[in-house]
Amino acid sequence: MSSLKLPIDLSTVRGFLETAEGELLHRVAAELRHQAPAVEIGSYCGKSTVYLGLGCQRAGRTLFAVDHHRGSEEHQEGELFHDPALADGSGAIDSFGEFRRTVAAAKLEDTVVPVVTRSQVFARAWSGPLSMLFIDGGHSLEAALTDYRCWIGFLTRGSILAIHDVFPDPVAGGQAPVTVFRLALASGLFSEFAAANSLRILQRL
Ligand code: SAH
Ligand code: MG
Repeated sequence: MSSLKLPIDLSTVRGFLETAEGELLHRVAAELRHQAPAVEIGSYCGKSTVYLGLGCQRAGRTLFAVDHHRGSEEHQEGELFHDPALADGSGAIDSFGEFRRTVAAAKLEDTVVPVVTRSQVFARAWSGPLSMLFIDGGHSLEAALTDYRCWIGFLTRGSILAIHDVFPDPVAGGQAPVTVFRLALASGLFSEFAAANSLRILQRL
């Protein structure tokens, strides 16, 4: 049974995160060691943002929620996870409206800063340490590696790297996130910290 009380019914929010994963994200964010802000890559309609944001709110951290809100490969028209309710007039995806409603309903506007751009564009403007990085953006190998390479240098000792959709078994899911996970471990800079379903939490050594 879930022990975490949320100010919003997340069953009404579109998204790709299981309750156990969200609760782990929340716990990790609430207990962050560093004062620095946290960054989420891939917010979609705000499901993971609520869990992370509530943890950050409790810890007094700011969460930058980065998403161009045009959807990943699998959200485009004709693809497996396309949701017609999110198509704007031109047929393109636009999840920003839903995202804003979610963040407002969860009373997180003082904590969550939406950044509507590609993660690599925002990374160019970023400087300074992060307390936490959550990677849940594009799942092509190129997209996942780009997110990793653009942001990994901002994690300092004791900070947290969280990766979603890590499937060691190729039959269970795409291999880009697990590739990034293995890369992080092979760098020798991270240790495994916690896990729930396909969510992996690493800590910077
Ligand atoms: N974390 C969400 C699910 C994210 S789905 C949840 O809990 O439900 C993946 C999201 O990543 C999509 O909304 C897509 O628009 C976004 N995305 C894909 N590539 C991106 C990139 N390069 N920069 C920022 N966002 C990206
Ligand atoms: Mg995901």
